[in-house]
Amino acid sequence: MTKILIVEDEAGLRQGLEINLRHENYETVTAGDGEEAIRLFHAEAPDLILLDLMLPKKSGFEVLDHIRKVSKVPVILLTARGQETDKVRGLRGGADDYVTKPFGVQELFARIDAVMRRSEVVTQSSKAVCEDSLIRLDPATREAAANGQKLKLSPKEFDLLMYLFKNKERVVPRDELLSRVWNYRVDLNLNSRTVDTHVTRLRRKLQKAVGTDAAVIVAVAKIGYRYLGQTSGPATDH
Ligand code: CA
Repeated sequence: MTKILIVEDEAGLRQGLEINLRHENYETVTAGDGEEAIRLFHAEAPDLILLDLMLPKKSGFEVLDHIRKVSKVPVILLTARGQETDKVRGLRGGADDYVTKPFGVQELFARIDAVMRRSEVVTQSSKAVCEDSLIRLDPATREAAANGQKLKLSPKEFDLLMYLFKNKERVVPRDELLSRVWNYRVDLNLNSRTVDTHVTRLRRKLQKAVGTDAAVIVAVAKIGYRYLGQTSGPATDH
């Protein structure tokens, strides 16, 4: 059973969430302040956390910061209307998503489902080494190599290459990369040039290691990017 830690100082909302989530067969634990949230995070090992930002004792940001130092547990922020900068700050701080108060329970359930699905995909696939004739990515050690040559990639470049590699049968749209690799919600309207800048750097590094003009990652105009791998070089064995 999925265990959800609800962190909310407003008692009415906290209880309402608890009732609704239990009704949907989630197990719940609740905290009314930031310190209690951290204590319960350690004591209860929840599968997901709903985190209010304005909290007594410790703010939601401090709680998130504490959690992200030790865990990748999915966190959904409960934010107030008009706190756009808080949302961005929270997402940059490692939150997976947010809902804006007042929100409907159906929207919350949908967000919980999406975040859980995403985190399951990541956990299951994050263990396996990604490898083809050109590159090797080891998610456990975060080591990357192209043509047997070690690549010095930033954490985001590593994640980006891994995501493109895993989806190499198709063109991956920029918006998808923003939401999957950067965890940004598209409606925050963050600049997709972030993706372009990272891909450019990544391609440069790959090209240097591969040493040919063959494109390892191709840009598809107005859509996104696709990993091609080794497109030229010695023919395969017959
Ligand atoms: Ca609050």
